[in-house]
Amino acid sequence: MALFTMKLENLEQLFLQELRDLYDAENQITEALPKMIEAASHPELKNALQEHLDITRDQIQRLDQIFTILGEDASGQTCKGMKGVIKEGDEIISQDGDNATVDAGIISAAQRVEHYEMAGYGTVRTYAELLGQQQIAQLLQQTLDEEKEADETLTEIARSVNIEAKAA
Ligand code: FE
Ligand code: ZN
Ligand code: FE
Repeated sequence: MALFTMKLENLEQLFLQELRDLYDAENQITEALPKMIEAASHPELKNALQEHLDITRDQIQRLDQIFTILGEDASGQTCKGMKGVIKEGDEIISQDGDNATVDAGIISAAQRVEHYEMAGYGTVRTYAELLGQQQIAQLLQQTLDEEKEADETLTEIARSVNIEAKAA
């Protein structure tokens, strides 16, 4: 959350702040994912991350659409939480070592990103419903479903990667 925010006088204002926070988070993810893809070894992991990078770009467009509906600016928030989550991922990929072990660490970092997003999108989806913004609620639900799917895919890939890492 930004240091100088508007006053939080109602749910609309909180809704807008959290949407802007997510917008910044998604943009940070778009910058971070290429480095994670590069550092990953397992082809399935590389593919899953690449696919999620493409999906993330769609998610940013979906947020743009939401800001257009609301007639509001997308900028104004810095997601400090996502900065920290991504920084931890950077620490993992900056280390050399066993490929499967590094991959397991990348999965761990990527799942933290997905869970952080899921918390944010679930919240704003619920606010949108309460505020009678059905179209926006649907767009946010779509993104929430994609984040959940990405998380499940990573869990699936981790099943083999973790075992390879254990064998190293
Ligand atoms: Fe996302
Ligand atoms: Zn945030
Ligand atoms: Fe995501």
